[in-house]
Amino acid sequence: MSNDVPAKVAQLRQQLNDWSYRYYVLDDPAVPDAEYDRLYRQLFELEQSHPELISADSPTQRVGDRPLAHFDQVQHEVAMLSLDNAFNDEDLIGFDRRIRDRLKADADNVAYVAEPKLDGLAVSLLYQNGQLVRGATRGDGQTGEDISANVRTIRSIPLTLRGDNIPSLIEIRGEVVMPHEGFAALNKRQEESGAKIFANPRNAAAGSLRQLDTRITAQRPLEFYAYSVAQLEGVDMPETHYELLELVRSLGVRVNAEVRVCSGVDELLSFYQSILSRRDQLGYDIDGVVYKVNNLIWQNTLGFVSKAPRWAIAHKFPAQEEITVLRDVEWQVGRTGALTPVARLEPVSVGGVTVSNATLHNMDEIQRLDLRIGDSVVIYRAGDVIPKVVRVVTERRSTAVSDIVMPTSCPVCGSEIFLAEGEAIARCTGGLICAAQQKEAIKHFASRKAMDIDGLGDKLVEVFVDQKLIATMADLFSLRSEQIAGLERMGEKSAANLIESLQKSRKTTLQRFLFSLGIREVGEATALALSKHFGSVQAVMDASEEALLAVPDVGPVVASYIRHFFMQSHNLEVIQALRDAGVTWEEFDPAEASEPQPLTGQTWVLTGSLSVLTRDKAKEYLLALGAKVAGSVSAKTTQVVAGDAAGSKLEKATKLGVSVMDEAAFIDKLKELGITLDEG
Ligand code: NAD
Repeated sequence: MSNDVPAKVAQLRQQLNDWSYRYYVLDDPAVPDAEYDRLYRQLFELEQSHPELISADSPTQRVGDRPLAHFDQVQHEVAMLSLDNAFNDEDLIGFDRRIRDRLKADADNVAYVAEPKLDGLAVSLLYQNGQLVRGATRGDGQTGEDISANVRTIRSIPLTLRGDNIPSLIEIRGEVVMPHEGFAALNKRQEESGAKIFANPRNAAAGSLRQLDTRITAQRPLEFYAYSVAQLEGVDMPETHYELLELVRSLGVRVNAEVRVCSGVDELLSFYQSILSRRDQLGYDIDGVVYKVNNLIWQNTLGFVSKAPRWAIAHKFPAQEEITVLRDVEWQVGRTGALTPVARLEPVSVGGVTVSNATLHNMDEIQRLDLRIGDSVVIYRAGDVIPKVVRVVTERRSTAVSDIVMPTSCPVCGSEIFLAEGEAIARCTGGLICAAQQKEAIKHFASRKAMDIDGLGDKLVEVFVDQKLIATMADLFSLRSEQIAGLERMGEKSAANLIESLQKSRKTTLQRFLFSLGIREVGEATALALSKHFGSVQAVMDASEEALLAVPDVGPVVASYIRHFFMQSHNLEVIQALRDAGVTWEEFDPAEASEPQPLTGQTWVLTGSLSVLTRDKAKEYLLALGAKVAGSVSAKTTQVVAGDAAGSKLEKATKLGVSVMDEAAFIDKLKELGITLDEG
């Protein structure tokens, strides 16, 4: 077995070096950090047990990767190192013990500075006599890239230091990050312009900073936080790391506000917990916290091992990104008929939680990710947010993958699936019968502005459906009062009332009926326009897309939703069942009714509280008479109807000289125009 070790070591190095190149040089990671870290640990442990295999070019011996060719190179006067990691409490306890052992003398409670570990990229800033003279990346730790022109575009990096204690020379080190908000906005812009989407804020920050065209850097939302000083001349060196950070702060350079001094392991652990619990609210990515021995003389005594200081350690948070395999894609139908692809994953632990499903949003997203079933994928999970598939690990794609195909019929009810042009979300068209949508559909049907079934609230609809008393809205009309009276919180009286209001609601208007069907994008106004234009349900059903487009208020998307709704025979069956149950409305021949109505061209405003009519009824009458009903008073308003306690709208009308009438006058006017008032 041990003969295989050199080969295994070589293979791990090759793999890690390839990944590092993608990560550091191309800013395009192949795998999540957790996967890199696992292989790194394997290599590290093999090298520990076979020290003869350690070589200078092993990834365990180096910090990053070589710098890009086209920036000038910078030789770091003081090497820019990496940090050792603690992945759990034991690692941290071991770190503290080693420190105390090495320092021997009365160091029972070593003071540490605890800082968030920002997930961006390390940058060195050199100031001479208060002027920014150079900015550099870490590169391989010895040689970095000269990004002076780029760092000058970052607003939080001062070009001139402030205050009157300016060092003749200071090299400040810190992290450049891209805050979440800016990252989301940048990716949105990238997507809209068809440009590359960044995998995470760290890559976006690195890609933005290392731009040969600094105008691009200038447009990117980057921020800088200082975390150490590498060189200092012309002012006294403070005694502690914390005072050094205070000095940097006094010079006008941003230091993270979460930085604290902690003594002993317990305080470090509670700092860790406190930051971890606020991780999602900080506004930028962090992948852990860093503890540094506060006393600078002790830091010196402790010194360095190969690529990291002995006096500091990064205590890592659970990874938010993990790698797993996409087993299948299932399609779920939402309450409004939206079809959503859900990724079924090989279960994987992300941030301490087992994830086996992730959202994929829609077909566009699947295409953008170029996702296939069987692919290795990177999953991201933060806080309580639903896990997301962020990218495919294409280098792990086998030949056994298969395409993801959107179903053509609803997995719940079998109706046609329809994707309107220009829309991202495909929908089930079986709105009236689909079990996934039935509750919402019936609630909408019963609502005040639709069939206005008094006493049939959302809760009751849920109970009826759950108890299988009804499956569609048509079933409502065959409910018997003894079925209802037996239900929780329903007595005989309320059952009888409901039956009565169902009875009453059967007589409705064409507009209300069309609205009550819940056709996508057909709101009250569109329903009214359709009813006026066509005069009957049959005419709407028979209308071609072209004919529908002739209706004011109806555009191509609405027209296509209407067409697809009436193309489903299931929906037509429910409409027929409603008619059979006695639901009626007045129909007319639009050819005869085309003369203008009494209030055509007028704009009315209702304000204050009406006592005889409801607001909705008043509005309905006005609409029926051809008026427009507006929500606010302007110079264009024809007439204001002011009920009791009318306020600012009445004032405005008076000011503008708009005619105002009270409710009694309004009712007289309605009667005069031939309206018969409904009871109640
Ligand atoms: P590191 O990023 O874990 O830690 C060192 C860095 O931490 C410093 O250079 C500095 O930039 C940063 N830092 C943030 N806050 C700090 C603070 N308060 N004080 C000091 N430093 C602070 O180590 P590394 O050597 O830069 O890189 C290793 C990391 O890169 C690992 O997390 C690894 O997973 C990842 N990596 C991933 C891939 C991949 O393919 N996904 C490849 C290579 C490396």
